[in-house]
Amino acid sequence: MSATPVTEPQSKSVPQSKKVQYVYFFGGGKAEGNGKMKEDLGGKGAGLAEMTNAGLPVPPGFTIQTEACREYMRTQKTSDAVNKETADNLEKLEKLQSQKLGIGDNPLLVSVRSGAKFSMPGMMDTILNLGLNDESVKALAKKVNNDRFAYDSYRRLIQMFGSVVLEISKSTFEEVFDGKKHKRGVKLDTELTAADLQEVIAEYKQVVKKHTGKDFPQVPVEQLTMARDAVFRSWNNDRAKVYRRINNISDDLGTAVNVQAMVFGNLGDTSGTGVGFTRNPANGDKEFYGEFLMNAQGEDVVAGIRTPVHISELHKLMPAVYDQLRDITTRLENHYRDMQDFEFTIQEGRLYMLQTRNGKRTGRAAVRVAIDMVNENLIKPEEAIFRVEANQLYDFLVPNLDESAEGIEVIAKGLPASPGAAVGQIVFTANDAVTFAGTQTQKKPVILVRAETTPEDIHGMEVAAGILTSRGGMTSHAAVVTRGMGKCCIVGAGDIAVDEKKKEMRVGDLVLHEGDWISIDGTTGRVIKGKLNTVPASPDDPDLKTIMGWAEPFRTMGVRANADIPRDAIQARAFGAEGIGLCRTEHMFFAEDRIPHMRAMIMARTVDQRKVELDKLLPMQRADFEGVFRAMDGFPVTVRLLDPPLHEFLPRREELMVEITRLELTDAKSPKLKELHQVLSRVEELHELNPMLGFRGCRLGIAYPEISEMQCRAIFEAAVNVAKEGIKVIPEIMIPLVGMVKEMSNQGAIVRRVADQVFKEKGTEVKYLVGTMIELPRACTVADEIAVEAEFFSFGTNDLTQTAYGFSRDDISKFLPSYIERGILKSDPFATLDQEGVGQLMHMAVDKGRKQRPNVKLGICGEHGGDPASVEFCHKIGLNYVSCSPFRVLTARLAAAQAAASDKLKVEGGRTK
Ligand code: PEP
Ligand code: MG
Repeated sequence: MSATPVTEPQSKSVPQSKKVQYVYFFGGGKAEGNGKMKEDLGGKGAGLAEMTNAGLPVPPGFTIQTEACREYMRTQKTSDAVNKETADNLEKLEKLQSQKLGIGDNPLLVSVRSGAKFSMPGMMDTILNLGLNDESVKALAKKVNNDRFAYDSYRRLIQMFGSVVLEISKSTFEEVFDGKKHKRGVKLDTELTAADLQEVIAEYKQVVKKHTGKDFPQVPVEQLTMARDAVFRSWNNDRAKVYRRINNISDDLGTAVNVQAMVFGNLGDTSGTGVGFTRNPANGDKEFYGEFLMNAQGEDVVAGIRTPVHISELHKLMPAVYDQLRDITTRLENHYRDMQDFEFTIQEGRLYMLQTRNGKRTGRAAVRVAIDMVNENLIKPEEAIFRVEANQLYDFLVPNLDESAEGIEVIAKGLPASPGAAVGQIVFTANDAVTFAGTQTQKKPVILVRAETTPEDIHGMEVAAGILTSRGGMTSHAAVVTRGMGKCCIVGAGDIAVDEKKKEMRVGDLVLHEGDWISIDGTTGRVIKGKLNTVPASPDDPDLKTIMGWAEPFRTMGVRANADIPRDAIQARAFGAEGIGLCRTEHMFFAEDRIPHMRAMIMARTVDQRKVELDKLLPMQRADFEGVFRAMDGFPVTVRLLDPPLHEFLPRREELMVEITRLELTDAKSPKLKELHQVLSRVEELHELNPMLGFRGCRLGIAYPEISEMQCRAIFEAAVNVAKEGIKVIPEIMIPLVGMVKEMSNQGAIVRRVADQVFKEKGTEVKYLVGTMIELPRACTVADEIAVEAEFFSFGTNDLTQTAYGFSRDDISKFLPSYIERGILKSDPFATLDQEGVGQLMHMAVDKGRKQRPNVKLGICGEHGGDPASVEFCHKIGLNYVSCSPFRVLTARLAAAQAAASDKLKVEGGRTK
């Protein structure tokens, strides 16, 4: 299993001089292809070939390889060579089966299915029962002695062929079909008789004639050619394109087409169809897991018309078939050395395998299966570490929704900002969250639903079980803060309209009020109506420790955490963080006892007034740093000086104006009015059109050096105090938003001056570093100059992405979906690092920085520091460490270990390169 999404660099171009084999036959116990040929035959084709070679019962057929699809995309037609090989292989199949496609008393019928290198479930098209026409349907009816079955199969063919090949909307056929059911007064498809179905077929044929001007093709070979080309075209249908974008699959690969003799699971009580896994995909237990339906076709299972039964029932109904299935799937698992996900059909008591592939599984199951397979001597530990996707480790750290509940109703989807699950009653303001959540003894879980959150909501976010916002992107306030808290969060759920005043949220026609229950899944972004159960977190899981124990020795990059307060630092250490890569000091100011002093400091008109307020903040900040240094006992702590624009600490302009108007109307003499007017005037002074590009970062410390001085004093006094307790302290002071070396030297001088003063006053020295964040493109281009002053760089890739693209990190959700849909962006660049653009800027800064100062320490502290693909990139460009939210530390550790192991073992995603 690949650790990260895989993109093919380019389409495979086949040299013209070399003769290409376009079609690969499988049947009669041997196949021309094999399981390794996924690139050419697609996953399904390679699996069918491999199973055939292994002597398993697979209906015979042939696979038209992906190069034929790529040619079709280039030229809009199939070449003579492809047509000839298709015809030759059809002949071979007909001979093997002693049948002719759609001809004679015993007509051959085939399925025509897509199958790309990477599984794209349901995204492309399939046509079943091909070969049926007005004549062969009669032959089929006679052969199986079942008119209803035959006409239903023909009806399904015209419907599938009509929509996929002839591009007639599905609903046109559905209208005809539903009309017939209505006329007959029946509910279920199965209640229509053979005669009814013959009438439906006649009407379907009229639909075809009306829409295409031609009759439904009666020549079976013509049906096959048309179906094959339509499956090639389906590679480029909209849903397949979107799926590829989301999963980072190259558009150039193309799909293979599998043409295979039909087997029927709906031929009576000794026929059936089912799907299964060789192990439990939810928890990894070694048990045969699956479900099936007798007398049914695959689509009946999917359509939910009948409820499938557990595979163990098959043992009772057809013990020999069950034993054969168990035996085959066990052999498949041993052969592929991975858990298999398989499909089978039983036709009149005979078992056929239709598909096998590595099964998708939860994180807990992935870890369990990997360890069990090592214990069973199927794989080695260094392979096992690649069998778990780094992101899947969240499953151990957060509660998950219990998916076994019935009737889960997803009402909306947003961005999965912070993983885990939360179930609670809706509240719409931070204050209501606090009131509703109640006291420690009588706690009620609440979900805070907001259009978006601001720093002022922090108290509500603190008590809420989970957060849901209708706006915002992956680095919006709600996303970043909740990730730090390890709290489940969904942002940018655009279908939800939040009305804070009415205390209600609307999704389409559905209205939910304060107190209504919802369940949210921050791992997938699903918002679910009602109250589901949860499965609790288990960070001490012994299996987790085993897999990490195998992975960790490979890791060469350090992993730190972004943590602002002692509690988070302790949590980060517990997850294995080797230091703090970003302590956002401003978060210390939002606490209830501090914000008044912070506001007073901002309101101050003179340096002296400001210093008075800063003096009040000093001991509070010092105490926080002491706590963080203690928690990080011996590990480095990177402390960033104040970064956000000051207006973020003041009330919002609109709120002030409402309050002022209210007081003027109700209590015009209130002394509070004067104060509110003063605050309003300061808010207006500080108002900026582009605050993220405005008066923030080192610009604050340069204009108000006393703020940097106070912060440095708090850091160094805390460092000395803790060092005196015998604890090793390694402070690294970081200057934000530097774009020019002079900014760095200005602030660096303050840091060093205050350090000297404190050390002198206290009579103790502590070793420290002074460095900068690299979060502006200009900083990357002059990184060599900046490295003269800075002893370390930490890439602030949130801002660097924002400034490189010119995308607002808080507003990207407004246009991101359109960009993804149109293929302009493949993924959210605030979630996964843009390696070609932002990554190249980082590369440049690394090179320039190291040239100037060979031992410059290099790290990353943007949100990308916890994203596996981005962590791998950081490893490649030689960063010393990554830093991420505490709850992503485990993921980052595994991703960094996988990147290093990949290098060392020369493997890619666990398979030899
Ligand atoms: C960044 O910009 O990447 C960063 C870590 O800083 P912040 O998110 O606080 O702006
Ligand atoms: Mg930043």
